[in-house]
Amino acid sequence: MGSAIVNKVRLLTMQPTSACNLRCRYCYLGRHKGAVVMDLAVLRAALARLAAEDLLGPELTISWHMGEPLTAGKDFFRQAFALTERMLGGATRLGHSIQTNGTLIDDQWAALFAERDVKVGLSLDGPTAVHDANRVLPDGSGSHARVMAGLDCLRRSGVRPSIICVVNQSSIDRAEELRDFFRAEGLWRINFNIEEIEGAHERSFVKSDADWRERYRRFLAVFHAAGVAVRDLENVKSWLADRRPRAAGAALPLHHLSIDATGGFSSFSPELLSASHPAHGDFILGNVTSDAIAAAMGAAKGQRLWAQIKKGLLRCKAECPHFGLCGGGYPSNKLFENGSFDSARTTACEAGIIIPLAVASHAPAVDAAHGRGAPSYF
Ligand code: SF4
Repeated sequence: MGSAIVNKVRLLTMQPTSACNLRCRYCYLGRHKGAVVMDLAVLRAALARLAAEDLLGPELTISWHMGEPLTAGKDFFRQAFALTERMLGGATRLGHSIQTNGTLIDDQWAALFAERDVKVGLSLDGPTAVHDANRVLPDGSGSHARVMAGLDCLRRSGVRPSIICVVNQSSIDRAEELRDFFRAEGLWRINFNIEEIEGAHERSFVKSDADWRERYRRFLAVFHAAGVAVRDLENVKSWLADRRPRAAGAALPLHHLSIDATGGFSSFSPELLSASHPAHGDFILGNVTSDAIAAAMGAAKGQRLWAQIKKGLLRCKAECPHFGLCGGGYPSNKLFENGSFDSARTTACEAGIIIPLAVASHAPAVDAAHGRGAPSYF
């Protein structure tokens, strides 16, 4: 397969359905044209190819994501979990994660997650007014109350979600308010995503606000001082402790594999699965029901994509002092923000690497009282 590297698949992002019951104002998917639910035959074909093509390493995380996975229904997931266990359980250490807006979680869902030890990522932007400004139902009404009801169900089943919180113009200066909200809810593992230009979401306040870096530094410093486990801060702290170079799996062929509800597959950043670009078209390399995965990665389209992404990776390595910590970032961010994979610095570099590094290196030490006070919920 030419010069393409064939990596073992570490992260398999599965889109169980293209449907979503919300219409978040910053959604990067940007299309809600009815529901396609993955047929179990598609999942079976995908798993069979991973095994037959020797693409499994010692561990595989399956991330159910893109659209609102829970709209695929409990029966789909009960069967999907059983099928993956049956087909791959003996071949690799399997873990499941699910990224959900939380609005459909009931006690049965929560029990299923607990039974299968599914890692739940819950999208929650903060208190009611902050969350409901963007995370809305098709009729424009806010989804906060439903998410909190879903969170209660998770608690009752002992499932401890990590939070994905999008930080935008209206929340970036309200760190204390968000900290108090998450603390009151016992939520101490948070992934902050600064609103980005990605896929169908073509605007972000960071493009017109020269002060956003300092505002975000202050924002993160509040959570750092409170001892909250913020993903980007934890990554930086772990790198500061060992200084070992990190690899960005999203920039390596097949390290990340993404499969949509119809079986179409892509690699690199999962966001590429549903994206298209004037210079590239779409990023679908084949379909698991008819095409071998590694061969598709090595065919002309896959090779062109990898050649471009590799240029960006080498540019990062040559130009960026943070390459050892970052490993080369997410190709989708480079494409959608800079117009080319063959580029380096993006907003994600600043928000995910540079600013957290500044906070972790220079901010005051963790507030011992808050750190110790973290509830046993986590
Ligand atoms: S921080 Fe940005 S520019 Fe630096 S290595 Fe990572 S992706 Fe490349």
